[in-house]
Amino acid sequence: MSSARACEAVQVVVRCRPFSRREEVAECENILEIHDKLGQITIRNPKAPPDEPMKVFTFNSVYGWNSKQSDIYDDAVRPLVESVLQGFNGTIFAYGQTGTGKTYTMQGVSNDPERSGVIPNSFQHIFTQISRSQNQKYLVRSSYLEIYQEEIRDLLCKDNNKKLELKENPEYGVYVKDLSSVLTKNVTEIEHVMNIGNQSRTVGFTNMNERSSRSHAIFVVTVECSELGPDGEDHIRVGKLNMVDLAGSERQSKTGAKGKRLKEAAKINLSLSALGNVISALVDGKSAHIPYRDSKLTRLLQDSLGGNAKTVMVATVGPAHKNFDESLATLRYASRAK
Ligand code: ADP
Ligand code: MG
Repeated sequence: MSSARACEAVQVVVRCRPFSRREEVAECENILEIHDKLGQITIRNPKAPPDEPMKVFTFNSVYGWNSKQSDIYDDAVRPLVESVLQGFNGTIFAYGQTGTGKTYTMQGVSNDPERSGVIPNSFQHIFTQISRSQNQKYLVRSSYLEIYQEEIRDLLCKDNNKKLELKENPEYGVYVKDLSSVLTKNVTEIEHVMNIGNQSRTVGFTNMNERSSRSHAIFVVTVECSELGPDGEDHIRVGKLNMVDLAGSERQSKTGAKGKRLKEAAKINLSLSALGNVISALVDGKSAHIPYRDSKLTRLLQDSLGGNAKTVMVATVGPAHKNFDESLATLRYASRAK
C-alpha cells in the first residue's frame, strides 16, 4: 500500500476467506477473483449467462484466500495504531456475512502467533512501542462491550446483563456510564482482559454463533502518554483505539424471522445501515450533517469517526457461488464507504 493511501482518513479493504471444508466437499464454485496489485475484486453471478460481464469493485487493498494475518495488520492496521500512539483516535471494523472471517480477522486463533488477529496484534504493537520509549510515561486502559439490539452491555463486568446507558457531557463527549476500564501493564494482562470479555460473550446463551452474528463487540484501548515538555510541564495526549467485530451483515428478512425476531433484525440492520451512512457522509466530505445520532454504535464511536480520527473497514467475503447475493451486498456496502 502506498503511503499516500495510508494517509487517507478512511481505508476500505476486502478480504476473501478460503473455501471451507464443507464447501470443498460440496464442490462449490468460486465466484470471486482478486487482483491485488490493482486493488480490485471481481464477482460473477453464477446464474447469469456466461457472456455477462463480471462486476468489478476497487478498494484500497484486496486480500485473497491465502493472505496472512500479518499482511492485514502491517498494511491496514499498523498506521492506524501508530496514530493512536500519537494521541489520535482510530477505529477498525470487520464487516461481512456471518462465517466469512470477521472474528478470524479481529481475534484470530489463540495460541497460534502466526494466526493471531488484529486485536492481539495491536497489543503486541502497542506494548512494544511503549517499551522502546524513553521519555514518556504511558497508561493503557481497556474496555470491552457489546451492543445487542441497541442495548449496551459491559463484557468485563460480572453482572454483564446490566444495560448501560450512553451519556454525553461537554468535557468527555459521548461515553458509556459505569463501563469498566481496566489498567493493564503488559501484553499478558491485556490479553487476559480480552479473554475474560470473550468468555462473557458466550455465557448464558445457548447459541453462541447466533449471538455473535447479531451483536457488535467493541474492544477499546485507551493509550495515555505523558511527556515532560521543554517548558518543564507534563504534556498529556490520549488516543483511543476501537476494534469492532460487527454483527453479521446478512439480511435477516431472508431467514424468515417473525415477531420479536423480526424486530431484533430491524435493529441490527439499523446500526449497520447507520454506520454505512456515517462513513459515506464522512468520505463524501460534502455533507454538513453526519448522522451519528441514528444508532448506539455510531453515537458511541462519534469521537473516533471523522475529524482527525482514522478508520479502517475490513469487509470479509466468502468465495462460494451460494453466497453470491450476500457477497455482492458486502462489496456494495464497502464500496459506498470508500
Ligand atoms: P464470522 O466471524 O464472520 O462469522 P469466522 O471468523 O468465525 O466468521 O470464520 C468462519 C470460519 O472460517 C472459521 O472457522 C475461521 O477459522 C475460518 N476463516 C475465516 N477467515 C479465514 C481466513 N482468512 N483464513 C483461514 N480461515 C479462515
Ligand atoms: Mg464472528
